[in-house]
Amino acid sequence: MVAGSSCLLEIVSDNTGEPLLLSRKFPLPMLPRAPDPAAAREFAFEVVARLRRAGYEAVWAGGCVRDELLGRTPSDYDIATSARPAAVREIFGHRRTLAVGAAFGVITVLGPKPAGQVEVATFRADAPYTDGRHPAGVTFCGAREDALRRDFTINGLFFDPLEDEVIDYVGGQLDLADGIVRAIGVPSMRFGEDHLRMLRAVRFSAGFGFPLERETRRAIESMAHLVESVSPERIAAELRAMCSRPGRSEAISLLVDTGLVEPVFHEFSDKPSAFWSSAATILDAIDEPDLPLALAILCRDDAAAMSRLGKRLRLANHERKLAAWLVSAVTAIVSATAVDGPASLPWSELQPWLADAHRFRLADLLRALAANGITATETAAWVSQQVERPATDLDPPPLLGGDALIALGVPAGPAVGQALRRLRNLQLDGRLASQAEAVEQVKAWLLGR
Ligand code: ATP
Ligand code: MG
Repeated sequence: MVAGSSCLLEIVSDNTGEPLLLSRKFPLPMLPRAPDPAAAREFAFEVVARLRRAGYEAVWAGGCVRDELLGRTPSDYDIATSARPAAVREIFGHRRTLAVGAAFGVITVLGPKPAGQVEVATFRADAPYTDGRHPAGVTFCGAREDALRRDFTINGLFFDPLEDEVIDYVGGQLDLADGIVRAIGVPSMRFGEDHLRMLRAVRFSAGFGFPLERETRRAIESMAHLVESVSPERIAAELRAMCSRPGRSEAISLLVDTGLVEPVFHEFSDKPSAFWSSAATILDAIDEPDLPLALAILCRDDAAAMSRLGKRLRLANHERKLAAWLVSAVTAIVSATAVDGPASLPWSELQPWLADAHRFRLADLLRALAANGITATETAAWVSQQVERPATDLDPPPLLGGDALIALGVPAGPAVGQALRRLRNLQLDGRLASQAEAVEQVKAWLLGR
């Protein structure tokens, strides 16, 4: 690897003579995490070795280098190389590669099952950004320029696994040792190119517990409002990562302190800082946090805000549904148990919530709310206990179906549904134990008793 090798700028789209226009509205699809980290590492080593045997430069790049130097297991390995996408496909074979990202120089190389896949990206520089979101094109170049287009110094490192050597064009090793998130180059320019980087800065700072370098932070504070123009999908992807990892409460505080919370969550722009600090501590107390739980915490008193936010951030349907369900479940349980606590309630009243597939998330949320004095500890403890019961106990099969009721003489129509619900409640509350008892009960109803 030649440090400081000169940049041979070349245009991706040879036929037009113009840099290739990217219509990259959405980030690349999230690839599944490698099932076996050791196998993933070995495969990433092999891919570098093969590219090198074919005469190209090739190194590990970005997040995986940072994570290894921090002693963490990388979620995946990215490889940067001087080989062009077509050459990468030649070397690994068309059947073992995917060209989804080929327009901006990225080929996915599929490994053996336990290893997952790696992304092999040709060294590139980004053409000027004109819209604060993506470059107008990419040009292939040398390793150094590829390092300089990256966002933060700690993310700009390369590693040569064959020589066991870090290649650092950006001072990333020092900042990693000092624990600082510093933009590569002039922060305001880098954030001006791609506004999403401001959210990434918060994510890395909070996630690693690294403060933002002074100029980097100042630039964010003065440019935060520009995040308005970032696509909702990219904002949501950052929020998903921020909310589900350690440092999530720090991420919320940092969003507030830098002014980023306004463009990201303008549904809550009138909220005092106590609202955010309380949300942050509750989120910290969640065992298995994710974006729907975080939104349920923020929107627990305002289902309408939840629906607006979910739509605006274009969250997946299942995320929106889960967040809304959690809010309704907490409201229902809190109001049902407000007077006498949970023990005296008929089980049938809370069973629909507590037998749901998402019951463990609900118990997690109630526990975190109780730990912060928001809901009753007794209710949270009782719910935690209930959700552990066997599924057949929580949601036993019904004693009779609609057809059986009609055969017994219940008139087809709404009466069937009503009778089914009444039977179900009696069964859940332990007042009907067998099919025979259920039949007797229906007969009694038909006789008007
Ligand atoms: P994570 O562990 O969360 O995946 P990462 O650093 O690997 O963190 P990715 O989004 O996977 O983050 O990106 C891989 C690398 O690509 C980064 O380390 C960085 O070098 C570069 N990169 C990603 N997004 C940007 C961006 N918006 N601007 C500049 N460089 C970026
Ligand atoms: Mg990554």
